[in-house]
Amino acid sequence: MARRTVLVLGGGVGGVVTANELRRTLDPADRVVLVEREHRLLFQPSLLWLMVGRRRRDQIERPLRELLASGVELIEAEVHSIDPVARRVETTAGTLEGDRIVVALGAEPDRDAIPGYREAALDFFSPDGAAACARALDEFRGGRVVVTVAALPYKCPAAPYEAALLLDDELRRRGIREHSEIDVYSPEPAPMPVAGPVMGAAVVDLMGAKGIRFHPGSRVDRFEPANRDIVFADGSRAAYDLLAGIPPHRAPAVVRESQLAGETGWIPVDRATLETRHPGVYAIGDVTTITLANGKPLPRAGVFAHGEGLVVARRIAASFDGRAGADTFDGVGYCWVEAGAGRAAFAAGGFFAEPDPTLNLRAPGRSLHAGKVLFERSWIGGRLERRLAHAGLVVGSRLAGLRVTL
Ligand SMILES: Cc1cc2nc3c(=O)[nH]c(=O)nc-3n(C[C@H](O)[C@H](O)[C@H](O)COP(=O)(O)OP(=O)(O)OC[C@H]3O[C@@H](n4cnc5c(N)ncnc54)[C@H](O)[C@@H]3O)c2cc1C
Repeated sequence: MARRTVLVLGGGVGGVVTANELRRTLDPADRVVLVEREHRLLFQPSLLWLMVGRRRRDQIERPLRELLASGVELIEAEVHSIDPVARRVETTAGTLEGDRIVVALGAEPDRDAIPGYREAALDFFSPDGAAACARALDEFRGGRVVVTVAALPYKCPAAPYEAALLLDDELRRRGIREHSEIDVYSPEPAPMPVAGPVMGAAVVDLMGAKGIRFHPGSRVDRFEPANRDIVFADGSRAAYDLLAGIPPHRAPAVVRESQLAGETGWIPVDRATLETRHPGVYAIGDVTTITLANGKPLPRAGVFAHGEGLVVARRIAASFDGRAGADTFDGVGYCWVEAGAGRAAFAAGGFFAEPDPTLNLRAPGRSLHAGKVLFERSWIGGRLERRLAHAGLVVGSRLAGLRVTL
């Protein structure tokens, strides 16, 4: 049988899951080639702990090679262009051709889209910004703390609210909460609007119980770092002493400039198979756009990149065997919502449900926080730690009746 090649572009959450599942399911003679420009994988959910000084950077990243199954060929290179018709990719390491291509290039921050953002915000969506936020907290003696969503879309719908709750917790721990105010400004009408009004109200209540104010519908016009002011589109202003920011996001340039991109620059896919309009070319994770029955987009979250990657790998393996793949993506997702004080809530449900996603929120608890820590270590810990954390999660999630993709 001729040796076939699958190119996986991007070695973040989705790319790693896809490459490893391909290696497990494909004939050993077939090649699995993963192209990634970074040497290390940074586990992005842990940026929230980095920003409040509860992790060091070296604790939340790991050399990519260590996370890949043996037999996955890793090419450390920048992808320059993708030709989905010829299934050819130009990279800094040369031209690559694949029988199948999986695009998992994520979403890139667009920090210059809103004037002043880059200078004003402690951007906790980057490791440097999160570490800068932790240092700023060390100097902070109280004042106005603001968490801002600079513009839509952004990844991880819970992130601004988790950030506010963790900042609250940290200020309490440092004894300066009573000298501080915490406000969250977002252009969204409610927290996680895709999840419906009940979820939004629950998150607002969670924050309200800690004295955190939420300002929905706040579209930022510009940041004025010299005055420490945010100016909104309606002309109103908000002052801050410490500004934790979430940047606007867009699809990576290499995707926007390819034939894969839809009108918005993201890649439209069949939501069940993740195939693009080009046969044999798939896209998963943050780089895709999937519209739900209620007209809202499927949120950008690692849990979806993970589930989609498994489906794509199994479908490719089936197609190489001459079978129609039976695996389809069902839109089921979940996330732990850090609530501070060593507790986390857990939201889970089906995003493909009609007319709206059906989601449940479990109240914050210590065991759920422990689950979030185990999840982190199962991804990014040392080899033995990953195994133990994985086993702990399997047992813990069964006991708690949680469905977790591992
Ligand atoms: C603060 C924060 C908290 C979060 N918390 C959660 C959470 O609790 N739960 C959850 O499910 N999700 C969470 N997320 C979101 C989650 O991290 C992302 O949705 C997930 O990483 C998406 O996976 P992906 O594979 O699509 O993209 P990524 O993991 O971003 O991977 C994309 C990869 O492509 C590489 N790349 C891009 N362009 C090129 C190029 N031209 N050449 C070569 N390589 C390239 C990048 O270097 C990157 O490694 C969080 C994100 C943040 C920032």
